[in-house]
Amino acid sequence: MADSRDKASDQMKTWKQNRGSQRPEQLTTAGGIPIGDKLNLQTVGPRGPLLVQDVVFTDEIAHFDRERIPERVVHAKGAGAFGYFEVTHDIRRYCKAKVFEHVGKVTPIAVRFSTVAGESGSADTVRDPRGFAVKFYTDEGNWDLTGNNTPIFFIKDAMLFASFVHTQKRNPQTHMRDPDMMWDFWSLRPESLHHLSFMFSDRGLPDGYRHMNGYGSHTFKLVNGNGEAVYCKFHYKTDQGIKNMPVDEAARLASTEPDYAIGDLFNAIANGNYPSWTFYIQVMTFEEAEKFQFNPFDLTKVWSHKQYPLIPVGKLVLNRNPVNYFAEVEQLAFDPSNMPPGIEPSPDKMLQARLFSYPDTHRHRLGANYLQIPVNCPFRARVANYQRDGPMCVVDNQGGAPNYYPNSFSAPDAQPQFLESSFKVSGDVARYNSDDDDNVTQVRDFYTQVLNDEERQRLCQNIAGHLKGAQLFIQKRMVENLKAVHPDYANRVQSLLNKYNAEAQKNAVHVYSRPGASAVAASSKM
Ligand code: NDP
Repeated sequence: MADSRDKASDQMKTWKQNRGSQRPEQLTTAGGIPIGDKLNLQTVGPRGPLLVQDVVFTDEIAHFDRERIPERVVHAKGAGAFGYFEVTHDIRRYCKAKVFEHVGKVTPIAVRFSTVAGESGSADTVRDPRGFAVKFYTDEGNWDLTGNNTPIFFIKDAMLFASFVHTQKRNPQTHMRDPDMMWDFWSLRPESLHHLSFMFSDRGLPDGYRHMNGYGSHTFKLVNGNGEAVYCKFHYKTDQGIKNMPVDEAARLASTEPDYAIGDLFNAIANGNYPSWTFYIQVMTFEEAEKFQFNPFDLTKVWSHKQYPLIPVGKLVLNRNPVNYFAEVEQLAFDPSNMPPGIEPSPDKMLQARLFSYPDTHRHRLGANYLQIPVNCPFRARVANYQRDGPMCVVDNQGGAPNYYPNSFSAPDAQPQFLESSFKVSGDVARYNSDDDDNVTQVRDFYTQVLNDEERQRLCQNIAGHLKGAQLFIQKRMVENLKAVHPDYANRVQSLLNKYNAEAQKNAVHVYSRPGASAVAASSKM
């Protein structure tokens, strides 16, 4: 029934209705030249070859040939929406950033949610972390909080980042996802246990993007008007409530409705059911950081809510769908190095690496002038610098203003009140190994105190159901790592693996012992 179609399905109809009774506009080339016929090629005779002079055709096909820009190396599949951030609590004692200037202050935002490993056409309902990136268009330039739906990550040293991502992508020869690659890496790097345990728990399959929390994940620094700094973590808790998806339902939707999460967000906003998140910070002083039982800059660890309670700050509300997906979502570029005065990086090694890597990949994907693209432009601040030229410079290129600094011609000047906070560091330059920096205590807390028994069983089931695809020596190493977290964790996973491995062996024997097949092949499988 046409009436029961949702807003996303009816997008074309709605667009037409919004135009009312206006006549269609004159069709033109990209250069604005009116077109007389756009259905028939210009050819020599009705069956003859076509002509290079048919610029109506070449204008379109040449542009079509260039429609795709490189997809994001990670977080390729996503949904975006727009809205606002409103301050509900005063945190000026911690942070001078104007975005927190007073209670009631409203700042426009753009948000992009995503899966991580899949390509841009992959299914939304797969077990994977979810990206949760927020761009605040502040009066002092854009602030990009490029987070996930987990407060932690698989690794803590960015030297491993490219390799880690390769294990989540495709095998270099088969071009298939490969459990050997994933579990080999994860079992060799026990710092991944915490994130793995989150991802294979119920929260690894969120029901769309509206029913999950977001986390800035890294440790950041906040600086107040007196120049006093503290470390901080950012959290956005869903006001819709946490809702996850049963494994079977996620698998069903992956084949029947692969764009489930994009559609869910679009329809909610189109129906005026605006999703929102309550924004909190956790704060740790520099003295507390010295004494903290873990490295406070370790991205595989959380700060306990009991020790560092959540402090309410404001609300994020999404109330506008993109008008055009490519323009506003595919080109939306987040960069953690975009931090207004009052928000600074901590020494978190992963964050430090992302400060370089994100703008670097945008310059590759969108071009050196990607910040001129309207959705990325810091439109509530005025850009004044000495950068000029480059591909796709689509603004006035700062006119006749001097393009060098210092200069004597009243061109943009730096102001000392915007200096970053100064801090002390010491230590020998070296490559420090952090792989055995207590990878189990917080995972044990999660397993024993946060999850109930049914959730624990589902976690073990989900791990075993995936780990069974890896070779036996990898399974064994992984189970040893789980044992270090808790014997119950290891025992449950091992007993499920025993069952799966026995079934696999039986099936292998079955396959290979059919008439004419060699029984040796079966016995040599394991
Ligand atoms: P708390 O008991 O104060 O916090 C536990 C937190 O776990 C909750 O507040 C909630 O965080 C989150 N949580 C609840 N149920 C689940 C679930 N089924 N799957 C994933 N997360 C869930 O204890 P601590 O702060 O001391 O943390 C204990 C453990 O909880 C940590 O080791 C960590 O594994 C996990 N955790 C901690 C978080 C933190 O920032 N401190 C955040 C998430 C998990 P939320 O409100 O953010 O949903």
